[in-house]
Amino acid sequence: METIASYLLGEWKTGAGEGRTVADAATGAPLARVTSRGLPLKEAVAWGRAVGGENLRALGFAERGRILRRLAEHLLGHKEALYRLSATTGATRKDAWYDVDGGVGVLFSYARLARKLPEGNLLPEDALLPLSKDGTFWGRHALVPREGITVQINAFNFPVWGLLEKFAPAFLAGVPTLAKPASPTAHVAAALVRAMVDSGLLPEGSLQFVAGGLGDAFDALAEGDSVYFTGSAATADRLRRQPAFTERGARLNAETDSLNAAILGERAEAEDEAAFAAMVADELSIKAGQRCTAVRRVLVPAGRLEAVLEAVAERLGGHVLGDPREEGVTLGPLVSEEQRAEVARAVAALEAGGARVAWRHPGPAEGAFFPPTLLVAEPDVEAVHAVEPFGPVATFLPYRDRDEAVRTANRGGGSLVATVATPDPEEARAFFEGLAPRHGRVHFLNRRDARSTTGHGSPIPVLKHGGPGRAGGGEELGGLLAVSHHLLRVAVQGDPKTLQTLFDEHVEGAERPAAVHPFRKHFEELEVGETLTTHRRTVTEADIAAFANLSWDHFYAHTDDLAAKESLFGRRVAHGYFVLSSAAGLFVDPAPGPVLANYGLEGLRFLEPVGVGDTLRARLTVKRKTPRDENTGVVAWDVLVTNQEEKPVARYTILTLVARKPRE
Ligand code: NAP
Repeated sequence: METIASYLLGEWKTGAGEGRTVADAATGAPLARVTSRGLPLKEAVAWGRAVGGENLRALGFAERGRILRRLAEHLLGHKEALYRLSATTGATRKDAWYDVDGGVGVLFSYARLARKLPEGNLLPEDALLPLSKDGTFWGRHALVPREGITVQINAFNFPVWGLLEKFAPAFLAGVPTLAKPASPTAHVAAALVRAMVDSGLLPEGSLQFVAGGLGDAFDALAEGDSVYFTGSAATADRLRRQPAFTERGARLNAETDSLNAAILGERAEAEDEAAFAAMVADELSIKAGQRCTAVRRVLVPAGRLEAVLEAVAERLGGHVLGDPREEGVTLGPLVSEEQRAEVARAVAALEAGGARVAWRHPGPAEGAFFPPTLLVAEPDVEAVHAVEPFGPVATFLPYRDRDEAVRTANRGGGSLVATVATPDPEEARAFFEGLAPRHGRVHFLNRRDARSTTGHGSPIPVLKHGGPGRAGGGEELGGLLAVSHHLLRVAVQGDPKTLQTLFDEHVEGAERPAAVHPFRKHFEELEVGETLTTHRRTVTEADIAAFANLSWDHFYAHTDDLAAKESLFGRRVAHGYFVLSSAAGLFVDPAPGPVLANYGLEGLRFLEPVGVGDTLRARLTVKRKTPRDENTGVVAWDVLVTNQEEKPVARYTILTLVARKPRE
């Protein structure tokens, strides 16, 4: 039988000895061995940190994002093979879709995010702050890649998604990965990593992979390094005590078990209730309930419990349990016989604690198969808030009022997600206030979003995945949030010219007059800080009247002398949009040239009123340049409009599409 290879120090290597056997979930047939005995894990940590870190930081955020996109496109071609392999873990095609397509989707999502990030490794985090009265000293926070490695330990349930959702933010941040899959599904993760390595897209050292235990890898971890763990709270507790964290300053991010609640609100009506029952049934059938986010506790107003339980049981009863490779099967086995035994033990513990089985799917119930099971218990049964049956099992709890429902849900000790089903925003608000401090995500379900929701149990790349307390206290995904955990925050202070050069972004006070009108220059010829100061224009009464008629905006402040005198301004003022249009008239160079289109405006503020007799002037400065494709780039321009006293009257950023220089 083949031993699953590990990818370390840039080579595929095989561990020694028998190790653990991975078996087919449905048939029990042995598939492969997992062992990392004798592999150079400590060396791999040091090598990844040095070689992978340097290679990744040589690229910058934007280029790493482009690699992620190409990698995602490459993996699309491997989906079918991964689906087939996933079936050996008990996954139906739908289950595999969540894992494989979900994982590739995370790569695409981080690649999209990267389009807004700089080319280099310095990521401004907030706006520049003036730190002196005369404008010669500024400051801000910025983020840079940590010079460490991240060791990523995954649970067995999502071998593809689990690896990619941790790898993508680390890669984008510029931090190398050593990934360790859970043994029961290591063969699927290994196939994924092989496809990633074979793509030729990954810089050397940016991704290593170990099938089997981590050996002495933890001995090499120290400050700057991190471990991202997904799995049981018991394993996380063991890891927390490692000297790498307690003595040497490495960081641990843990995603652990979670007793997620789904609550049917008291104001839910028939349609909301139907959506709720369908959602609970889905949660228990997708991946045979082996999702950290799956619903474990179902809270229903006391008088409605029977009906909701029946509706969920009816839906679950329609599932065909069997080998996922067989036609018509909609629900597979658990990942292994050991896992089945774990779930059986958990159900026994729930029963011993005071819960009773109210319904059970007819089966089969041998090998790794565990039939969906619904229990009922009173909310004060302690075991329901302590035992996680990691399979198609949930306990129904009747509640008497909202306070009891919130208290009961929060007894989970911190959860990844809770769903509240209600069409009433006020009821939703009251639940939210009670649940938010103990949950990583709160999902509202009702007839209005039942068709469009991404689901209770599906973490999405752009929103945080993780939860407080028992759920581990970690944070993953969430777009930039996950990337920023791999970055180090640094406060930067200095004069405008220094900061402008550092961030490649205009800082007030570092302008340079443009020798040629900037609209005559191609993208690569424009320099940040280059400034055009225009001629002037005096506003007349005719301007204001004409603009009121042209725009059909006859608001009293522009057209009614008496009302305007009593207004905040004390006189008739020009329309803000007139000021904006006048500024364009002042700074635009009209003839055809490299500026192709104006496609937006950001951060507009009208700072002082403009009235008859005021004289306007505009200042146009190249604020930021972002390459877009081979032919164009986006230029953000800072526009400052001032009056005769040189007081700013309006300020904003316009975005234009500018052509690159035609190639020779
Ligand atoms: P587990 O037994 O805790 O294992 C998780 C991972 O830790 C596996 O890769 C495992 O490797 C590894 N591991 C075990 N002992 C270790 C040690 N001493 N040092 C380093 N790594 C070690 O959990 P599981 O059975 O795979 O997964 C089920 C549990 O994970 C459930 O409780 C579930 O709630 C939780 N989970 C949570 C999330 C989440 O996002 N919060 C997601 C999925 C699952 P081996 O397999 O090689 O032992």
